[in-house]
Amino acid sequence: MRKSLLACFFIAALLLTSQASLYASYGLNVIENDSIGVIYFNLGKAYSVLREQVKNFDKTADANTKNQVEEMLKTMQADSPFGKDLTVAKISEALEKWHNDAVFIPTGGVWISVAKDLQPKAVIEAQIKVDKLAELVKSFPNAQGIDFTPKNNVISLRLPGIALPIEISSERIVVGSVSAIPQQLGADWQPYYKRVSSPDQHLAVELDVQTMIEKVLDLGQQRSAATSEKVCASNMRIMLAATEMYNMDNEKMLREVDMKALVADQYLKEAMVCPDGGAYSARGDLSAEGEISCSIHNTVADLKKFDGPAKPQPKIDVASQLPDPRLQHIVRARIFADTAGLLLAVAVNDEPTRQQFKEMLQQNLKMAEQQLSQNKGDARVETVKKMFAALSHVDKAPWLGVSIKQTENEQILVGTAVVGVLAAIAIPNFQKARLQARKSACFANQRVLLGATEMYNMDNAVMLSELNIETLVQKNYIKSAPVCPENGVYSNSGDLAKDGNVKCSVHGSID
Ligand SMILES: [Zn+2]
Ligand SMILES: [Zn+2]
Repeated sequence: MRKSLLACFFIAALLLTSQASLYASYGLNVIENDSIGVIYFNLGKAYSVLREQVKNFDKTADANTKNQVEEMLKTMQADSPFGKDLTVAKISEALEKWHNDAVFIPTGGVWISVAKDLQPKAVIEAQIKVDKLAELVKSFPNAQGIDFTPKNNVISLRLPGIALPIEISSERIVVGSVSAIPQQLGADWQPYYKRVSSPDQHLAVELDVQTMIEKVLDLGQQRSAATSEKVCASNMRIMLAATEMYNMDNEKMLREVDMKALVADQYLKEAMVCPDGGAYSARGDLSAEGEISCSIHNTVADLKKFDGPAKPQPKIDVASQLPDPRLQHIVRARIFADTAGLLLAVAVNDEPTRQQFKEMLQQNLKMAEQQLSQNKGDARVETVKKMFAALSHVDKAPWLGVSIKQTENEQILVGTAVVGVLAAIAIPNFQKARLQARKSACFANQRVLLGATEMYNMDNAVMLSELNIETLVQKNYIKSAPVCPENGVYSNSGDLAKDGNVKCSVHGSID
């Protein structure tokens, strides 16, 4: 159990990791020059608070909290990193053992930054026994054949599946390449530097919102280009099915592709458009055995990859892609939390928009306050009320937002940091739950496919022995081709006209 706990901590730390800091200024340098986002999280502080809290849990927690926590721990699954029958005492024991071994103890910040080229960089500040950590990492299944020999007490390595170089020294783990020497900070950054370099800092986030939106939209565009022939094939399948349905219902059948008729009579929601601009036409008679073809991608059965001259990427119109075009004026976002308080603010580069946002913010706060005042006597509401009382607007052009002064609620922020760490530890369970959900969805698809094939075989003299999704769609036994959530390919095992079954190349079959 200890080993898996160690591994888990290490992975959690790696997940949280970041580049920027040999020193705090390093992170700032990254922000200032080439990053579109930096997150700083004081893992060292969260670690020591967590350790203190767990160690003194018996003495400090009231009976009610004790009960709640122990009950919560009982619901942990047997295959969680901590195993079944978990108690606070067990966690404390594991933590102290961990601490005394001192293989990896977080001492400061975790910095995560993303550069303009979307390269992530990460640094975890920690006290590390390099050789001991090497021994631990060596036992990971994907670490075979990697050289962990420290040179000058520094291990440099590349892990399979992680494109970035990793450097482990006695003071930090660096993932990604750490660039040149920090430069002088500009005057604009001095207040930021002061906040982030404060030892009381829990969390600092700075995002270049506009560049991030553009990058995301840009990636979406590239992805849709890469799959355009798949999209086109799916269009042709849908159009053919719609035409066949139309022809079953109407005496005057469609022989050609007639998008207008299909949309007008609601066989299609909207006209289908080839993502590469191809034109759709009928090859043969669609009321008989004809099929649909695209002038660029050919037919579904003989799909042609389009690799003609690259079309110039149209300039992204950010405003039109946003749920609210005013969002295009938010250029930066900041979140700071330290022992003095919490600050959430955005920089808006357009004065009228800034005024609108300001009014919205004031209205929403007033509404929330009114709602709170109706819930009297609830202890949780009282806590939130206190936070509200300590709340004020930030209105210093171009910055707009809210700040909370810390009163007696210091625990709220520290508590949030601790929850973050615990959530990171619990991630393997979420992953498992997600995989399970995907498998269930795939099995549901298989049931649909099997049921549709059985119905088809009851109706038709020439039965389907093999799985033929296209036929099932075309003949209206299913609406559209079901897609495995993990891109598995469906086929049959055994003869479907007899007692065969449907299977997925990733998830297998139901039995
Ligand atoms: Zn096409
Ligand atoms: Zn599957």
